Amino acid sequence: MRIGLLTDIHANRAALEAVLAALSEEGVETLAFLGDLVGYGPDPEACIALVAEKVGQGAVALRGNHDAAALGERESMNGVARLVADWTGARLTAEARAFLKSLPMSASLGPAYLTHASADEPGAWTYVTNPARAAAAFGATKAPLLFCGHVHRPALFSAEHNGMVRALPWRPGPEIPLLPSRRWLAVLGAVGQPRDGSPMAAYGIWDNARQSLSFRRVAYDVAGTVARLRAEGLPEVLAQRLMKGE
Ligand code: ZN
Repeated sequence: MRIGLLTDIHANRAALEAVLAALSEEGVETLAFLGDLVGYGPDPEACIALVAEKVGQGAVALRGNHDAAALGERESMNGVARLVADWTGARLTAEARAFLKSLPMSASLGPAYLTHASADEPGAWTYVTNPARAAAAFGATKAPLLFCGHVHRPALFSAEHNGMVRALPWRPGPEIPLLPSRRWLAVLGAVGQPRDGSPMAAYGIWDNARQSLSFRRVAYDVAGTVARLRAEGLPEVLAQRLMKGE
């Protein structure tokens, strides 16, 4: 079975729709959303509705720090993130709030353990950005595969039986074999606010049968989302980020 992995949608409807269309074109029907449905972007209601519809059809969805912030848990947030969390929270319907509240912090999907931030303490919202951080995440579970988001830049780590954890090179597109002799941790890039220099929406396809993962990119209507941000009067820095992918 192939599973589409989506994280950090950040209320970017055009990016979410482009990723869902790309997955559907490839016949990928099982979906996992790794959190941050909202925050930063101009279309929280539409994105929550789309994800809720997929969850109704069996998709897994997790809570991210921006989802928690939109519900009022925003102690650790400041600046633009907090401003947009307030803006998002103020416009959520009761139904949308209830949906965000229902999202768990982690989930298991076959051999994979899913979280938004690092698996060792998901509610601390720790970023997995290096092998030491990846080692802490590996230590939190016996699952052979870990998938998370939160960083907005894709990365791949593996752990050997002797505990040695390393970051591995990868490039977007080709299937990367997830050899069962090791454990694997993939940080998926952001659907709705990439920060790795490419403005294209990022996602992943995990093939559980073939034991492989591919990091994917798809172009979307960045100008359309930028126009929506400006129409809602949200900070211009968010538009600049989307255009540059940083
Ligand atoms: Zn995020």
